[in-house]
Amino acid sequence: MQLCNLQRLDAFADGELHGPLRSECEQHLAECALCRAELAEILALRDFLIVNAPAVPPSISLAGRVRERIAQPWWARAAAAAILLVALSSGFEAGRKLAERASGAATDLLPTEMGDIHVR
Ligand SMILES: [Zn+2]
Repeated sequence: MQLCNLQRLDAFADGELHGPLRSECEQHLAECALCRAELAEILALRDFLIVNAPAVPPSISLAGRVRERIAQPWWARAAAAAILLVALSSGFEAGRKLAERASGAATDLLPTEMGDIHVR
């Protein structure tokens, strides 16, 4: 990391950097006091949130919906995906036809409007 990169520091703090990127970041941190201070703030904020942020348990209805989803057989999920695909492609086709119709209407109106302007 030649220059300071705050996004990369966040990834470093989260343990998401590996291999050469992690080594590069560690080398930059050894040389850059600004990034070391920023990393210390990131880690302090993360620790603060871990201790102080209230735990929010998932709702019972969410857990039930997830269990239902997991329990569905593969063919039910495939059928739902196929229905969604047909619905989306129908929507795209309808939208395309509507755009064509609107485009045609606009060109149909153009001579009339020009005629109206010419008459005035
Ligand atoms: Zn830096």
